[in-house]
Amino acid sequence: MTIQDQTPEYILQHQFGYGEFRYGQKEIIDNILSGKDSFVLMPTGGGKSLCYQVPALLFEGLTVVVSPLIALMKDQVDQLRLNGIPAAFLNSTQSNDEQRWVSQQLNEQKLKLLYVAPERIFANENRFLTYLKQCKISLFAIDEAHCISSWGHDFRPEYLQLAQLKDYFPEVPVIALTATADNQTRDDILNKLNLKQPKTFVSSFNRANIYYYVERKKNYLERLLNYLDQHKANAGIIYCLSRNSTEEVAQKLTDAGFPAKPYHAGLDQQTRQKHQEEFLRDEVKIMVATVAFGMGINKSNVRFVVHVDLPKNIEGYYQETGRAGRDGLPSDALLFYGAGDVAKLRKFAEVEGNKEQTEIMIGKLNKMQAFCEARTCRRKYLLNYFGEQANNNCGSCDICLSDFEKVDSTIEAQKILSAVFRLKESFGMQYVADFLKGSKSEKIREEHKELKTYGIGQDLPKELWMDHIKDLIQLGFLKQSEGTYPVLQLTSASSKVLKGEEKVWFIKSAVRKEDFDPGPKQAMSYEKPLFEKLKTVRKMLADRENVAGFQIFSDATLIEMAAYLPINEPSFRRISGVGDIKLSLYGSYFLNEILHYCQENKISSRIEMKSPKREKKQSTNDNLSDTKRVSFQFFKQGKTIDEIAEMRGVQNSTIETHLAYFIQKGEMEVTEIVPFQKIAIIEKAIKQCGDQALSPIKEVLGNGYSYGEIRAVIAWRRKDSL
Ligand code: ADP
Ligand code: ZN
Repeated sequence: MTIQDQTPEYILQHQFGYGEFRYGQKEIIDNILSGKDSFVLMPTGGGKSLCYQVPALLFEGLTVVVSPLIALMKDQVDQLRLNGIPAAFLNSTQSNDEQRWVSQQLNEQKLKLLYVAPERIFANENRFLTYLKQCKISLFAIDEAHCISSWGHDFRPEYLQLAQLKDYFPEVPVIALTATADNQTRDDILNKLNLKQPKTFVSSFNRANIYYYVERKKNYLERLLNYLDQHKANAGIIYCLSRNSTEEVAQKLTDAGFPAKPYHAGLDQQTRQKHQEEFLRDEVKIMVATVAFGMGINKSNVRFVVHVDLPKNIEGYYQETGRAGRDGLPSDALLFYGAGDVAKLRKFAEVEGNKEQTEIMIGKLNKMQAFCEARTCRRKYLLNYFGEQANNNCGSCDICLSDFEKVDSTIEAQKILSAVFRLKESFGMQYVADFLKGSKSEKIREEHKELKTYGIGQDLPKELWMDHIKDLIQLGFLKQSEGTYPVLQLTSASSKVLKGEEKVWFIKSAVRKEDFDPGPKQAMSYEKPLFEKLKTVRKMLADRENVAGFQIFSDATLIEMAAYLPINEPSFRRISGVGDIKLSLYGSYFLNEILHYCQENKISSRIEMKSPKREKKQSTNDNLSDTKRVSFQFFKQGKTIDEIAEMRGVQNSTIETHLAYFIQKGEMEVTEIVPFQKIAIIEKAIKQCGDQALSPIKEVLGNGYSYGEIRAVIAWRRKDSL
């Protein structure tokens, strides 16, 4: 990585293959580059990692990433390495040998990013920390920063030690990142980490590509199967409350022809690991899990998250549904709601001997229930819950997508509001409804039976009054107090209705489409059969590299390929997610498939329909050959392919591809890589199979011949074509 004119945009395009920064990424990166501390609050899937990965590559020294999620470290490091970025991790799951290798890499200053668990940094009386003092550290990134706060929902005491970082490294900028933190937690994080005048970046929590649906729980299995049937090609997570039910549901789905695996904390480590791996690698499409599953998962192509049981609170629900659609493609969050679950969870929420905690839990559960019963936009409810404003109609939740007949219900609203007013804002929903009905019950106080509003709602059944009260809460004309026995209170919006200055519209419940069916959605129009073929190519490559498919290219990237049909390298480069290294490593496999598809179906490329990635005025080929040339120079200095691959933190095949380029250009002899006597035999196999795909040639040749050798001979045969 010795290219001179490096900018964040350059790194984004060439190393990561993306055309533009998202949300606040650029501002955050600029702040880090100016040496300042930053605090980033961004939802899951928002793109937090790039915020420190891009500066890491622009800074001279090493970026240390602190993360509590050991399972995720390997994934992230794999992903970086696939993009040709030298990265490594240190944690307790590694063998001594592996750890020694990392230390050596550190000593030789070969790494740009190092992922570590917090306890590792401070182990053995800060020995590692002292060691890091000798390395050139340019940035600390603290991921999942809410773990440092006991106010947060996932406090980890080992995070508290991070308070020392600033003492040891007062000059090194720190970026703290999290997806969940209320104001209290936020302040706590900044304090505990001792950040210096940190700049805070808060992005919207709206996950625009997630569609929210709530359905009745009764007979849910039938509707779930129906849903799965319509989304056969997709991967998803189904959350259940209990371990038993995950196993049951997984079995039922499997029996019905939708292979699914269970995941919960009661399974042994090995089984859990296996199921998780199968899911990540697209070998099993459906994971039926308790909330134990997901923390360490960054699979980007999860297309649906289903809750068959009610989550305990909105925080959990939002985090779980947030695991859908990290790649930005349309995805579904489907919740099956039954009032029975509320009663069950209410029992769980009782914290023995802790009244205060119990009230908090019940309060949160009430909000979850209200979300399910809402007849206003789901997204608005969620965003408001997190303190964010939102439009009334999102166009992508069950409510906004349904046709509801709305009726002027101002009179009913006025009756309810005046009842609440007369009852001095001191009674709950049931009482107010009974009061409106004019109930003769003893529960209604005698003095209330004297009031003028008593019994003014005899015309409607009690259930409907209850619904209307809930509607008014949703619409913001009424609110409920916190606690176990919430009472109804007026809001600042109530008086306009009471004075007749504002009309209220209720949804006529009879019209609500009870069986709303979320059908398959499409991001953009693309060639579906080709998409499936590209997935097969991806799977083959992923298996070869021993990584998950989405780490090679995300679904979003494959869909772009299947939509714009690039048929040569320059146009392939324009696809979002294709960086230099991936282009040179995998480009030809996908190009072949696309080319073949276009010929077979007599269609031509649509790449001109894609707006170009914003490129600097510099030929792509020059930049591409820069990174290749670095490998070439090492080779000229006498290093072997293995050594260069290790130094640059990439696979051997990358280096082989780099060298093949120079063979094709005529700057290097094929015999420097392939023994003379092998060349003719390889050539013969190439003539037999064609030179578009390596594996058939390899199959003909057998074990004595490497992919690198085959690549080199192909390049040599193409020499004149450059
Ligand atoms: P988070 O850590 O906030 O949950 P990630 O950093 O894992 O999110 O990013 C989520 C996904 O979005 C990843 O697949 C990542 O590659 C992709 N992504 C991030 N930034 C961009 C961008 N500027 N353009 C396109 N894709 C991006
Ligand atoms: Zn909506």
